[in-house]
Amino acid sequence: MERDKIKKCQKLPFQICPILNIRGVNQEGIYYIGDRGREYCIKWPTDSLWKKKEFQKWLHEILIRTSDRYRNIADREVLEKLTREEEDISEKLFKKRNPILARTGTLLQWFRFSRTMNIDLEIFGINDCPVSARLIATFRLHYTRNPKIVDETMQRMTAENGEICAICLYKFDLNERYEIWPGTSTAQHLFHYDCILEQFRTDFKCPLCREPASFI
Ligand SMILES: [Zn+2]
Ligand SMILES: [Zn+2]
Repeated sequence: MERDKIKKCQKLPFQICPILNIRGVNQEGIYYIGDRGREYCIKWPTDSLWKKKEFQKWLHEILIRTSDRYRNIADREVLEKLTREEEDISEKLFKKRNPILARTGTLLQWFRFSRTMNIDLEIFGINDCPVSARLIATFRLHYTRNPKIVDETMQRMTAENGEICAICLYKFDLNERYEIWPGTSTAQHLFHYDCILEQFRTDFKCPLCREPASFI
């Protein structure tokens, strides 16, 4: 019954399970909270693994853009999952192939290593993204806890100094979200928050000083 609804549905499946009740999407389907707090799953209308993955990716991307609540759940899951997966990989690969990195490696070194060793990063929710899903999740959570909004003082100061966001090349307007490039540099390069997230898709280095994005 519900499978048929999704098949015919031209719009998003929010009519079937309201966005607020969605707890997550995975390769099996949409998990949501229904009657009496029980968890239900609407399975994807296909048996093909490839198509299931496409459905998952499609809805995940829409929800990441549209739902703060879903984004928070997804970010937390990435962080928790990565901790376990990292331990696992460190166990299986690092100690065997690179014992020094296994003991001392930072996240970025680990990330580069996993690339050169051709470890399937899809299991971490990373596709072609040079910044790890873990760092993006940490960055988003960090911003949620310490949101930075352009106020009148900042707007005036950046305008006087001719400072712009070096990613989109626009000035900082009142009430826009901004953030400092996450890293160890004392330079504190500012960009729009959304521009940094966009930058993470293609590049993990600061557009101004090429410092790699990191959280200590
Ligand atoms: Zn910008
Ligand atoms: Zn910089």
